[in-house]
Amino acid sequence: MTDATLDTLDVPSRVYQTLLESTKAIPWHIDWATMTFTYIGPQIEALLGWPQDSWQSVNDWVERMHPEDRDYVVDFCVSQSKAGVDHEADYRALTRDGHYVWIRDVVHVVRQEGEVQALIGFMFDISERKKQEEQLAHLHRELEALSYQDGLTGIANRRRFDNTLAKEWSEAQRSGQPLSLILMDIDCFKQYNDQYGHLRGDECLKRVGQLLSLAAQRPRDLVARFGGEEFVWLLPDTDAEAARELAEKCRVLVRQQRIAHELSPVAPVVTLSLGVGTVMPSPEQSSTSFVEQVDRALYQAKREGRDRVV
Ligand code: GH3
Ligand code: MG
Ligand code: MG
Repeated sequence: MTDATLDTLDVPSRVYQTLLESTKAIPWHIDWATMTFTYIGPQIEALLGWPQDSWQSVNDWVERMHPEDRDYVVDFCVSQSKAGVDHEADYRALTRDGHYVWIRDVVHVVRQEGEVQALIGFMFDISERKKQEEQLAHLHRELEALSYQDGLTGIANRRRFDNTLAKEWSEAQRSGQPLSLILMDIDCFKQYNDQYGHLRGDECLKRVGQLLSLAAQRPRDLVARFGGEEFVWLLPDTDAEAARELAEKCRVLVRQQRIAHELSPVAPVVTLSLGVGTVMPSPEQSSTSFVEQVDRALYQAKREGRDRVV
């Protein structure tokens, strides 16, 4: 609206006009019968760069919407409007220089005797809010990843193992595929700490943890720190023979590092004892009993002299 037409308005209308055109919310009015803009606030040009008089038909609004948002936003707004329901929609609007700005459109449907006459609404620039939402979502993902990570070794932690085991257990029950588990324990690690100190003990745990996690190559395999100086390797779709071979590979891998352990009665280097188990879980079987069974195999490896796979 030009200043000349503004002059012809009565005082309250002028007040409304001034108010509407000086707020951050951008007012607009669409005639439903002709699907044209009868009005859009001049602030639109500052926000999107498109001049006020370039908003003629509803198509101008549709075409300046991000292609990924267009279909569902237009469908939603049209169906809500036809039903006479006031509504809101968030979408990315194209700027004249080719960028996108997040907009929230708040729409009021004007009806007369049940017929839609017009739509009247406000556009809000919500890009700042969207940016904060994205940052929050990113932080949330980072936090979630951290909550599944062991603080010392950087590999998966017990929580992650418990969750993954529950998931893979159901999956194995469903698919009838074998599920294998290797439990590993560093031999006589108390003596390692006693001789070299806790900090070097920590270094050793880090090194072993990283080494084992690199050994796992299939995407569904999970190597985790089970607790203290114990590690686990969960192997979905893996039979007993393959699991045993992988356990032996872990044993050799750690031994080959030749991490000095002078006080160990087993060998002058850090060694692992390993228990392996494979199961095709029946519907009534619990994963806890399976872990206990593999734990017994590990203790048998200890009893038989350590540095071995049972
Ligand atoms: P085995 O001798 O058959 O291996 O028996 P074990 O597993 O029961 O006992 P071990 O001598 O291996 O002792 C485990 C030790 O591991 C006890 C604890 O001090 C040490 N340990 C557990 N967590 C950590 C840790 O985060 N850092 C360090 N440095 N040591 C740890
Ligand atoms: Mg132990
Ligand atoms: Mg031990």
